[in-house]
Amino acid sequence: MKRIAVYPGSFDPVTNGHLDIIHRALEFVDELVIAILVNPEKQALFTVKERMEMITNVLPENHRIQIDQFDGLLVEYARKKNARVIIRGLRAVTDFDYEFQMALMNRRLEAQIETVFLVPAEQYSYVSSRLVKEICALGGAVRGLVPEDVEKRMQKKLQTEGRRKK
Ligand code: ADP
Repeated sequence: MKRIAVYPGSFDPVTNGHLDIIHRALEFVDELVIAILVNPEKQALFTVKERMEMITNVLPENHRIQIDQFDGLLVEYARKKNARVIIRGLRAVTDFDYEFQMALMNRRLEAQIETVFLVPAEQYSYVSSRLVKEICALGGAVRGLVPEDVEKRMQKKLQTEGRRKK
């Protein structure tokens, strides 16, 4: 039986930390579904379509990777995808509380699905989408923390926004 995993997140935008987790997951799953959570209540910098494009652009064509979007319950979505594993990244203890809660709640909802936590390379352990957006908006360098395409798109958006606010 194929081992299928879902890696859910906002990916607004994808960072090298996310990519690190994706590559680690591919070491032990057969198929990985990168699933962008559509959350109309959470204000995002990039549209879901843009977020998908950025992930597609940076990942080489690979039949083991699927890039998709979802809303509603994650376990429901995982079930539809025949996935038995949910991949999450753990950066620091600050991630732990929330992730632990979610993993247990998801297990309560669907006992068959296991959450697997992966730890990124040290240099990405402090990288978050929120932080790179903040740094970029203030004109700081984000090279090496996000793919080049993402860096360019972020600069374009955030600079346009900055100009509009002035
Ligand atoms: P964030 O929590 O930064 O808004 P996402 O919702 O896109 O990002 O995160 C999706 C998953 O990827 C979460 O499990 C999150 O902990 C993980 N993740 C995000 N950034 C990193 C990173 N730099 N290293 C490891 N895991 C990460």
